[in-house]
Amino acid sequence: MSDYQLAQLPWLADAHQRFVDVHYRGKNSHAHLLNVDNALGGVVLANACAETVLCQQLTPVGACGQCKSCLLLSANNHPDLHVVKPDGNQIKVDQIRLLCQSLTQTAQQGGARVALITDVERLNIAAANALLKTLEEPGNDVVLILQTNHTSQLLPTITSRCHTLAFNAPDKQQIQQWLAQQHLLPAPNEQGKTHDVTWCLSVVGGPLSLAESLRSKHYQQLLTYRQDWAQSLQSGHLTNSLLTLTEQQIVDALNVLYLYLRQYVLKSNSKMQLQGKPALQLNPLVQGKLIEFAGTVMQMCQKLQTMPSVNTQALCQQYILTFKQLTNG
Ligand SMILES: [Zn+2]
Repeated sequence: MSDYQLAQLPWLADAHQRFVDVHYRGKNSHAHLLNVDNALGGVVLANACAETVLCQQLTPVGACGQCKSCLLLSANNHPDLHVVKPDGNQIKVDQIRLLCQSLTQTAQQGGARVALITDVERLNIAAANALLKTLEEPGNDVVLILQTNHTSQLLPTITSRCHTLAFNAPDKQQIQQWLAQQHLLPAPNEQGKTHDVTWCLSVVGGPLSLAESLRSKHYQQLLTYRQDWAQSLQSGHLTNSLLTLTEQQIVDALNVLYLYLRQYVLKSNSKMQLQGKPALQLNPLVQGKLIEFAGTVMQMCQKLQTMPSVNTQALCQQYILTFKQLTNG
């Protein structure tokens, strides 16, 4: 996902420019939190911020790309950039101790030293505590850049010590346009209507992963799950793809079911007519129960990520039954 360049991800431009502005004016703080999911290019932005700090001839719009620092960075070989990523599922205390130790040494290129920590929500408790002192007193010319996918999972002791870079996520329309520019959208249907692919953003995580899904067969698979859930829930019997889900596929399929259930309730609320048919009417009690049911499906998705041993067919069949019971009331 980080094969993208900053210039290819237009929604990062404002946040990047804000970072460059304060740095250019020499008013940079020592610890920055980028609350930008990696599926939106969070790591791309974090790298661009590191470049901004390290560049020896910074321009008003960002790193020059030509100085010795910029060249070392583009060769992935800058001695004063210290990158920490999760080792497996966690960022461990030894990684942070090593980082803090490296930051006490003098800069080899004579400029700033930068610590770049990605997926910072994965710091375990010991690692987070080990980072606190450096966050508070990072030393002269040390800048910490922290990228996170889930700011809510961070300890307040971390967030309160950082300056959070303001960021506006792109809306669905902007994402659809961005995908169109890359020629990733399926061809329009016979009526010339473009197919909206952004319905599954929450399943895949964000625009970069959606682009990846569209390039592979993954998107088509999600679409098939949606059609098969619609058919199965209506008929009361499991159909097609849902009969043969593997343990790798079940999480995707259940995420799609979750979306389907939410949309089902939303549609029943809207006064719009769907394809000439009067909108579906559900009483508020049934709506509430369906939302609760969708919540159960979501919880199961989360459980399955750590405990993937399940009879997928029985699970799907059980959900179809639950749906029938709730809607036939
Ligand atoms: Zn430069």
